[in-house]
Amino acid sequence: MRYIVALGLALSACAPTQTEAPTFDPAAYTLVDLTHSFNAQTIYWPTSTKTFEHVQQAFGPTPGGYFYSSYELSTPEHGGTHLDAPIHFGEGKETADRIPLARLVAKAVVIDVSAKADSDRAYQLTPDDVAAFERKHGPIAEGSIVLLRTGWSRHWPDRLAYLGDNTPGDASKLNFPSYGPDAARLLVEQRRVAALGVDAASIDIGKSTDFMVHRIAAMSNVPGFENLANLDQLPATGAIVIALPMKIEAGSGGPLRAIAMVPR
Ligand SMILES: [Zn+2]
Repeated sequence: MRYIVALGLALSACAPTQTEAPTFDPAAYTLVDLTHSFNAQTIYWPTSTKTFEHVQQAFGPTPGGYFYSSYELSTPEHGGTHLDAPIHFGEGKETADRIPLARLVAKAVVIDVSAKADSDRAYQLTPDDVAAFERKHGPIAEGSIVLLRTGWSRHWPDRLAYLGDNTPGDASKLNFPSYGPDAARLLVEQRRVAALGVDAASIDIGKSTDFMVHRIAAMSNVPGFENLANLDQLPATGAIVIALPMKIEAGSGGPLRAIAMVPR
C-alpha cells in the first residue's frame, strides 16, 4: 500500500515533465462551415462543359428488409467551394495530394473589403488594404491562411450577381472582386502566408485575363480556396481554419470542405 502511494506520487511528480498537449475543449469554439453545398446550382467557370452530377444508384427498401441509398458523383475540380493546387497555374508545383497539411490547417486572418466591393464590383485588394489591416490587427504571421471577405457569397448561387455575367462558354465578361497582384506579392512573398482564400469565384478578379494572383501564389506553392462561404461569421484574427480538399492524386484542385474554429 505504501509502495502504491509512493508510486502514485512519483508518477504525478513526473507528469509535468512529459510532453504536454494543450487541452482541446470543443465547447470553447464555435464551428463555422465555410463550404457551399454541392448541388445542381453549384457555380462553375463559364467555360466548364460539365457541372456537378449526382446520380442516384439506389434509394429505398431492399429485399433484406433494410434501407439503402447510394449515388455516383462527378464534378470538374474547379467549381463550388474548392481548392486550387499550386500546379493549377504553376508547372512542376505541388499537386492537390502533395500540399503540406500545414498549409490547409492554420490560423486565419480575415481581411474585409466588402464595403469597397459594394461600391466597385471590380475591386482588388491592395497593399494599402493589407497595411491598414496590420495597423489595426498586428502583422500577418508567416504561415497564416488569409481569407479575403468581399461579401460575394451572399449572391450564391445567383450566377449573374455572383460572376457578373452568365453567358455559357464565355468568361470574357466576368466581373467580381478579389485579390490584386501587388497585394498577393506582399502576402505570398513577404508575409509568406500558407494559403489565399476568398468568398468569390477566383483569387483573381473577374476581369483578370493574365491570372497574375494565381501565378504569384503558384510560384510559391501557395494554394487557393475559392467560393468560400460565411466569412462574415469570422473574426479578423483568432480563428483556426481547417480546409481539407478531396485528396486527388496529381490533381490540380478539387472539392473542398473548409471549416473554421472560432474561439467563443
Ligand atoms: Zn480553381
